[in-house]
Amino acid sequence: MTTFEDAARHTAVLESRAIPDTLFTELYIGGRWRPAELDERIEVRNPADGSLIAAVANATVTDCAAAVAAAADAAESWAVTPPRHRSEILRSAWEIMVAERESLAALITAENGKSYADAEAEIDYAADFFRWFAEEAVRIGGDYRLSPQGDKRILVSREPIGVAVLVTPWNFPAAMATRKLGPALAAGCTAILKPAIQTPLTAGAIVDILARAGVPAGVVNYVTPRPAGAAVRAMLHHPAVRKLSFTGSTEVGRLLLHEAADNIVSASLELGGNAPFLVLESADVGAAVAGAMVAKMRNGGCACTAANRFYVHRSLADAFTQGLVEAMRDTTMGPGLVAGNALGALISDAERDKVAAIVARAVDEGAVAVVGGQKPSGPGAFYPPTVLTGVRPDAAITQTEIFGPVAPIIVVDDEDEAVAWANRTEMGLVGYVYGDTASAMRVAHRLQVGMVAVNKGVLSDPAAPFGGVKQSGLGREGGSAGIEEYLEQKYIAVDL
Ligand code: NAD
Repeated sequence: MTTFEDAARHTAVLESRAIPDTLFTELYIGGRWRPAELDERIEVRNPADGSLIAAVANATVTDCAAAVAAAADAAESWAVTPPRHRSEILRSAWEIMVAERESLAALITAENGKSYADAEAEIDYAADFFRWFAEEAVRIGGDYRLSPQGDKRILVSREPIGVAVLVTPWNFPAAMATRKLGPALAAGCTAILKPAIQTPLTAGAIVDILARAGVPAGVVNYVTPRPAGAAVRAMLHHPAVRKLSFTGSTEVGRLLLHEAADNIVSASLELGGNAPFLVLESADVGAAVAGAMVAKMRNGGCACTAANRFYVHRSLADAFTQGLVEAMRDTTMGPGLVAGNALGALISDAERDKVAAIVARAVDEGAVAVVGGQKPSGPGAFYPPTVLTGVRPDAAITQTEIFGPVAPIIVVDDEDEAVAWANRTEMGLVGYVYGDTASAMRVAHRLQVGMVAVNKGVLSDPAAPFGGVKQSGLGREGGSAGIEEYLEQKYIAVDL
């Protein structure tokens, strides 16, 4: 994956990047692009300058019901489509995405605001879910054994769970879609994708890629309703729907878990994070600073995996702070498609103002912005790289998902103190630890999270199980666990 530091290497050629000639602004239902029931459009704007990119159809509850019906109609034949065939379609989708990565990355940058390098890295990561699940599609296992009493054979097969509703956020508009579509299709499920309304165009482009790769009519459907609430609720109450996979905020995830409960719909939830980044006494400061830049600044800080709080051993605090401040100061901010800009815009002015308010509160509570900390004047949803020192361990910022390029540093005296503060949160997605291997591994096992990066600034990998504990979610995506979320075990007792 391209890292934040790679950004500079990509910048020379950026001006030639253009978004795809065709943008998909209608709904995709039953194998064709069609308008919504009502003639209402939703504007998609570039957060770097507010310019209009396109206006997409606003799907009604009726449109969403039609999408579920199309998925239900296609379910039986897709479930019995040979795994090799499903695999080859996903493999083709990977090939197309890789071939078209430049225009797709430009599209992400246009509607999301992130830097082109981050967008390009996202396309590589996103496409890789299609490749990984193409490989998984042909490895769905089963079991066959004699019962302990010897009275029967216990045969266990894994079968597709059924129609899946996939709801994705704006921060990784490509990767969060492929991380769900890949395993759903590999398992033999049909799906309805509902992307975040700020970034529907990337999701539409991915749906078109799947169609070109050979996905049959009705297997993948795509709807863009606003507001999302009533439409998603209606889909979750449709009797054909058996699966919800949601990535987004804990608040919305909790709501959807309640709604899924009515029809006992299986729910996989990837929710908010509040990642601690621990710099132990034995850490290599240079490596920790480099890792911190990636863990904090990848995607402009808009990642559920973004380092949200830095707990640094007192003996290294000055050196680490100085290194981080210098690296942040050297980070150029501006429109993502313009050469040299490693930090793009946030998704909207409202999100930028939220980040500014989080920083203002931290400063009120005694923190000092050593670099950044001021909302720039001028157009675009920009917020500068910011390092906060003097942050109290109980400050509000340590309990808030920042979702922006802001690094609060908290000085600690030992490993126990760092671990205690790190675990004092309702979230539990990911943690980062820098230190000698034995200490870092010891701490890794003590952190209450679903994933730990040891002496690394980024850990996301389609081949690894991604997910959180506590209020960061339920279930795993990617790895060999990812496809299981879309499979049910069926036990057949056989008396020979
Ligand atoms: P969000 O919860 O506001 O929206 C996510 C999706 O849910 C969007 O498609 C949105 O339209 C839809 N939605 C919003 N309200 C809804 C409702 N009432 N009913 C049904 N659907 C509704 O999240 P966001 O702002 O788009 O994304 C940011 C959040 O996502 C952050 O909290 C981040 O940590 C989280 N996230 C988590 C992961 C992970 O894997 N754990 C990955 C990326 C993002």
